[in-house]
Amino acid sequence: MASFKLLLLPGDGIGPEVMREVEKVLAFVDRQGLAGISTEHALVGGSAYDAEGKPVSDATVRIAGDADAVLFGAVGGPRWDRVPYEDRPEAGLLRLRRDLGLFANLRPAICYPALADASSLKREFVEGLDILIVRELTGGVYFGEPKEIVTLESGEKRAVDTQVYTTGEIDRIARVAFDLARKRRNKVSSAEKRNVMKSGVLWNEVVTGLHRAEFADVELEHVLADNCAMQLVRRPKQFDVIVTDNLFGDVLSDIAATLTGSLGMLPSASLGARDPATGRQAALFEPVHGSAPDIAGQGKANPIAMIGSLAMAMRYSLGLADAADALEKAVSRVLDDGTRTADIAPSGTNSVGTSEMGDAVLAAFAGALG
Ligand code: NAD
Repeated sequence: MASFKLLLLPGDGIGPEVMREVEKVLAFVDRQGLAGISTEHALVGGSAYDAEGKPVSDATVRIAGDADAVLFGAVGGPRWDRVPYEDRPEAGLLRLRRDLGLFANLRPAICYPALADASSLKREFVEGLDILIVRELTGGVYFGEPKEIVTLESGEKRAVDTQVYTTGEIDRIARVAFDLARKRRNKVSSAEKRNVMKSGVLWNEVVTGLHRAEFADVELEHVLADNCAMQLVRRPKQFDVIVTDNLFGDVLSDIAATLTGSLGMLPSASLGARDPATGRQAALFEPVHGSAPDIAGQGKANPIAMIGSLAMAMRYSLGLADAADALEKAVSRVLDDGTRTADIAPSGTNSVGTSEMGDAVLAAFAGALG
């Protein structure tokens, strides 16, 4: 039986509440002998700042680097609004992404039939939706230099951000997208703005070249990023895997998120490069939502995004693809049965709390595994 070391970083607000439900599933996986799971806990975000003076300590980053996967809850909240900018809770997450080299952000947008009416689009457009956005996470305009605000001789100010991509950065993210498409419906849509941006021209060239050389069996289409945004709300089911840069990915993945109903449903994964010698790959899995200070401590957060993040960890880091499928089916089953946390319950209907939802998913998971 394979054994894995997981680092759990619950964080702030509802982070610890939803992480508890994931721990129940992990304990079950270990108990059933699906895999040996050992877990370590550490602080991140505001809680780490309060206790350790930094939003993530060097020691925690080291443990994260040694772990087979990191499960991350959420960070932030009004309590830390006044801490110095470099120590704000989100800086802990950014440091983990940077130090672990997590360049590929995977955000699935799945619309469960039972929740299709909660989407901002009509049921027929979203029912059964299953798309995966692969966003480049460590390059592009968020990191390019120069990045500054300067005062000109006239006294006017000028702000500069720099969009910059190298061949290697584009190649490695496109490779991730093509690989994933082969395990899905075998189609990649590459989104950029080659009509107005040099980085878009290079992006297009590199993706086309890689496709021709190594992934010709995968269907590839190029789509301008603004058109991609429009198509996502017009006919989202035309997409399978969308690969795009850091900035466009940020925007397009939020658009895709609104198609699925609730923030409490959306998992994500961030992956580093696979070491060809050891096969190891740094990976962090987290819900898309934040720390939800408005409902923290009330036991009513929806744990499905966090549980879905665990399913992604099982698939991408633990080699437990069948168990990941079973866990995702368990979520679907529980929703079909009408179990709802408050965020996904139609108004005026009954809802369950975080722990009851976690228990229901675990029971369905156990049932699915026989
Ligand atoms: P948020 O995602 O925390 O909450 C937005 C809304 O969605 C709130 O009404 C909240 O109650 C609801 N919601 C979110 N997750 C839910 C869940 N699992 N179940 C039920 N309802 C849920 O976003 P925000 O309010 O803009 O930010 C709150 C804090 O979280 C801020 O400090 C922000 O910086 C931080 N944040 C952190 C991350 C992260 O840790 N990756 C991501 C986004 C925001």
